[in-house]
Amino acid sequence: PLRQRLLVVANRLPVSAVRRGEDSWSLEISAGGLVTALLGVKEFEAKWIGWAGVNVPDEAGQKALTEALAEKRCIPVFLDEEIVHQYYNGYCNNILWPLFHYLGLPQEDRLATTRSFQSQFAAYKKANQMFADVVNQHYEEGDVVWCHDYHLMYLPKCLKEYNNNMKVGWFLHTPFPSSEIHRTLPSRSDLLRSVLAADLVGFHTYDYARHFVSACTRILGLEGTPEGVEDQGRLTRVAAHEQIRFYSCYANHALSSSCNQFPIGIDSDRFISALELPKVQEHIKELKERFAGRKVMLGVDRLDMIKGIPQKILAFEKFLEENSVWRDKVVLLQIAVPTRTDVPECMISNTLDTSYVVPYAETIYAMKEKVSMEIVTSGLTTRVSSSLQLALKRKMRNVNMKAGSQLLSMPSYHNYMRLLPIANQKLTSQVHEIVGRINGRFGTLTAVPIHHLDRSLDFPALCALYAVTDVALVTSLRDGMNLVSYEFVACQDSKKGVLILSEFAGAAQSLGAGAILVNPWNITEVADSIRQALTMSPEEREKRHRHNFVHVTTHTAQEWAETFVSELDDTVIEAQLRT
Ligand code: UDP
Repeated sequence: PLRQRLLVVANRLPVSAVRRGEDSWSLEISAGGLVTALLGVKEFEAKWIGWAGVNVPDEAGQKALTEALAEKRCIPVFLDEEIVHQYYNGYCNNILWPLFHYLGLPQEDRLATTRSFQSQFAAYKKANQMFADVVNQHYEEGDVVWCHDYHLMYLPKCLKEYNNNMKVGWFLHTPFPSSEIHRTLPSRSDLLRSVLAADLVGFHTYDYARHFVSACTRILGLEGTPEGVEDQGRLTRVAAHEQIRFYSCYANHALSSSCNQFPIGIDSDRFISALELPKVQEHIKELKERFAGRKVMLGVDRLDMIKGIPQKILAFEKFLEENSVWRDKVVLLQIAVPTRTDVPECMISNTLDTSYVVPYAETIYAMKEKVSMEIVTSGLTTRVSSSLQLALKRKMRNVNMKAGSQLLSMPSYHNYMRLLPIANQKLTSQVHEIVGRINGRFGTLTAVPIHHLDRSLDFPALCALYAVTDVALVTSLRDGMNLVSYEFVACQDSKKGVLILSEFAGAAQSLGAGAILVNPWNITEVADSIRQALTMSPEEREKRHRHNFVHVTTHTAQEWAETFVSELDDTVIEAQLRT
């Protein structure tokens, strides 16, 4: 018999597509664990539906791209630039992302966001409807549809409106915040109701699931049950990663079965076997020589406010201050991966200050040759003054823009770059300043305590770094899960290094017993944990590593995907039996 089909719907397809000609495209599939897991669910024939990350305005281009993607089991949703701007940069990444990670905006930016809110939410709904249209075109009876993440909270409802029999699941890869935070969203009820249209709703941790259920009971006045949320006799099952034996708010109901667990993970074998590759071995050898005699500490984060990079570095400084014997015996390598470059980035305060914009624009320009930029101040798109235009032009060749236009269009327009409230530019310079101070203070002519890189690494280099690390430092202020901590553990089977992990990362729920858990805001505590990690006995390290390693290798991405999909299937069958 034919295998049942699984339609995975996510904002981005796991490909980068580059146009080579009118009707030719080159595609590169990203090889992450999630992709392998989702496309490789046994028992199911999986297809992936999403945006290819490029603007394709012409029909010939769309047709050619659709055909090229079909070979990779991918189906594109075409979003035009305006929609991407309002839906993706605007509503998703400027409103939902900060809110879900408890990031406050300064008052004036909050106000700006409030002004643009309605149009961005309208674009969000419209974009979600466009995803639904594509799903509906490809849907065949019996298919399972799995929607992903905060980009697509409106999708379950759109899908059920098309066909109430569709089996629809939704999984959130970020935290779901306290209902008190969710309450402040003008679209709070719309979003909850549309998510509830799904048959099964999944979260990384028990806390996120509990927050979601509270939001539904408090904001919508619905009934929370041990299984999920009930609305006029219809049940939406809500489930999470681990620890879901009971909801504390319904302490007398034991949450029924252990099958409600969806521990996301990584493709641990991919990392473990990579360590044997000659290329990785070579890197390992180089790194060992380079840092001989010193303990290696590692941070790998996207450069994002949520990752707590400044807090981490300040804690390291405090550690060096208080432990002078360690000053020339330890090095911190901090990889700060330029954040998704098509995400809102940085703030220009109320006035458009050339001295501020130009260096920033230069950084962006150096980082990615292809960007276009819109400059926004306090919610009102600012006309680019001719002096700014001149300054930018002088600094950057190839910049093509018109005075008075609101869009600076650069050689290509693959990515929008909006300069917005939460200052990644500020974050970068803040981090550079602290690193500079510490290296100036504790460095010697031949060595500095911190190596900070604003770049990404390729897979072999990353694996090698994980493998030579003595102590990994993950200090996220909020993080849905944090896969870096999993990847580190997978690469540590010979070294048995120590993981220092923020209690605000979802991974704290699963790796908590093996890691040293810290509150990243408490610099003293983090500094102490660094000392504890560096001086930990081999037996203790072995014991802690064993715990984490077993977890990482048994709770893989593959297993997570399979459990979710089969639960979804069962949920729907049970519901049908009930009626
Ligand atoms: N990563 C990468 N290139 C790098 C450094 C990291 O591709 O130079 C990957 C890393 O292997 C991990 C992901 O980026 O899979 C980060 O995932 P995580 O869940 O830790 O955080 P997120 O960036 O999703 O918030």
